[in-house]
Amino acid sequence: MSECFVNAQSAENSTHMTPMIDPFARHITYLRVSVTDRCDFRCVYCMAENMTFLPKKDLLTLEELDRLCAAFITKGVRKLRITGGEPLVRKNIMSLFKSLSRHLDSGALEELTVTTNGSQLEKYADELYSFGVRRINVSIDTLNDEKFHRITRWGDLARVRRGLDAALAAGMKVKINTVALKDINEFEIPGMIEWAHDQGMDMTLIETMPLGEIETDRTNQYLSLSDLRKTLEANWTLDDIPHKTGGPARYVKIAETGGRLGFITPLSHNFCESCNRVRLTCTGQLFMCLGQEDVSDLRAVLRQSAEHDNEAIYRAIDRAIARKPKGHDFIIDRDHNGPSLERYMSTTGG
Ligand code: SAM
Ligand code: SF4
Repeated sequence: MSECFVNAQSAENSTHMTPMIDPFARHITYLRVSVTDRCDFRCVYCMAENMTFLPKKDLLTLEELDRLCAAFITKGVRKLRITGGEPLVRKNIMSLFKSLSRHLDSGALEELTVTTNGSQLEKYADELYSFGVRRINVSIDTLNDEKFHRITRWGDLARVRRGLDAALAAGMKVKINTVALKDINEFEIPGMIEWAHDQGMDMTLIETMPLGEIETDRTNQYLSLSDLRKTLEANWTLDDIPHKTGGPARYVKIAETGGRLGFITPLSHNFCESCNRVRLTCTGQLFMCLGQEDVSDLRAVLRQSAEHDNEAIYRAIDRAIARKPKGHDFIIDRDHNGPSLERYMSTTGG
């Protein structure tokens, strides 16, 4: 074997075999991929009613998304979450799930999951299950039809509930994501927890994050989860449990309902030190932190790479991970009414 070949091969090994470890010794094993910025809802805390979406040409094709996901899996990603916008409204999205399922079959990927508003689940639950999706997050902020319509602007709760039933019937574990909104669903939350736990679904409460310009002042929507926790503790026993996702959720088990409840408090810094994730947008921008602007353009690298040569992509991923910041800088208070970051959650993927 020539020396030149040996060197070339060890250089190749050194890029795609090196695990993704950032400057703060955090091991990156979780990739969230937003497959579209579009959505069939317009949730008041997430989007403005009149959104301008990205031109189609800027979006990665499903094949490009598949290739980038494969590159990340080669680099050590073990858990992949498909999100959006609403991921299940992207045309032909099942073909991406089908293709990604090969990494589950090979054992390279431990888990393929989805975060969805549930509007298309009735149609897709069985297919998702057949492509290896075993857990799914469904976002529901209220169980009141009229309020649901008010929060989502365009959503239909009955349809989402049929979707939930389809997911449960298909055999998926469902987790309900609920954004805690002051005065809007605040008083309904205990009832929602009971409803979720009765059906064997975990639930996670999320604090509003200052992402993207919306019509209303976010300080009016903001409900502190530590206050909400105190309210719940007046009636229930909440036992902290060490259920760790590497994400911003802290979990408790509620003795009376027997179910798990997560609290996502992104405005606190208590989760950054264990952050194991990065986020890829539908245009191939890699965000190393949900709460920072720094981004790496993987689309440019991808589109310049020959079809079967991912070497430049691995190197770009390594350079990006080396820049992962220690934590975020969210601000939400009366002195900072604007969004602390210009982009919407639907762009980065929630
Ligand atoms: N459309 C899907 C859905 O609603 O589940 C996936 C994308 S959505 C951006 C992911 C999660 O982010 C949802 O649970 C949503 O409630 C949450 N979310 C959106 N905007 C948010 C914000 N500004 N603050 C906190 N959570 C937000
Ligand atoms: Fe759409 Fe999800 Fe944002 Fe609601 S939270 S507007 S469903 S992307």
